[in-house]
Amino acid sequence: MQPFIQFESVSKSFGSLAVIDSLDLTIHKGEFLSLLGPSGSGKTTILMMLAGFERPTRGTITLDGMRIDQLPPHRREMGVVFQNYALFPHMTVAENVAFPLEMKRLPRHEIARKVERALDMVRLGHLKNRRPSQLSGGQQQRVALTRALVFEPRVILMDEPLGALDKQLREHMQLEIRELHKRLGLTIVFVTHDQSEALTMSDRIAVFNAGKVEQIDSPHAIYDTPRTRFVAQFIGETN
Ligand code: ADP
Repeated sequence: MQPFIQFESVSKSFGSLAVIDSLDLTIHKGEFLSLLGPSGSGKTTILMMLAGFERPTRGTITLDGMRIDQLPPHRREMGVVFQNYALFPHMTVAENVAFPLEMKRLPRHEIARKVERALDMVRLGHLKNRRPSQLSGGQQQRVALTRALVFEPRVILMDEPLGALDKQLREHMQLEIRELHKRLGLTIVFVTHDQSEALTMSDRIAVFNAGKVEQIDSPHAIYDTPRTRFVAQFIGETN
């Protein structure tokens, strides 16, 4: 498989704190890759560097062979779904979803068409005139996902997107995101500290420990043949 996104010798420090240390990481087109690891292991920092909210201290990141690590976020064509990336409370569902398209200054009729199609895709069409406060947690999360999908990004970045949901809803959303991933052929980079979530959702898992990848493999291989003591212990903590 061709590398789609490539991190080469990427390091990131905040002041004297070295968070990522000379990371090499390849992400393939169309794959669902989870970044799994304990809190503070550097997962969000990786996502921030992909999204363009942080820049590497050293090293390069390429997308389809083109360097992106110095580009501003809006030039990277990445859709972002963060746990705390709230919807705009004063806007309706449709207006929230339209927002990224308005930022791109698309013609009004085209925006309306794309919003309609995106909302139908996630079966939210009937809720388009509601405000976020009139939706359940799961529905809000689906709107956030739709807002990230609507401008047809090349990659979707998700940081603990289901962290705030109760167990049942969480499992339902896991299935739904998996299904969307398959149906639309999306490339998804998914940050989680939840072992079972990563094991059930991913094509591959990169297990992080203190800013380094301990192992990157299929869920099956991570579970059955952990290559380091850390991976064995961390995966063993599955509840
Ligand atoms: P994770 O997502 O695995 O929980 P993070 O990438 O959020 O880990 O954080 C890794 C380390 O980097 C933590 O020690 C965190 O405190 C530190 N860190 C993250 N962002 C910043 C920042 N903007 N300024 C200073 N330290 C940061």
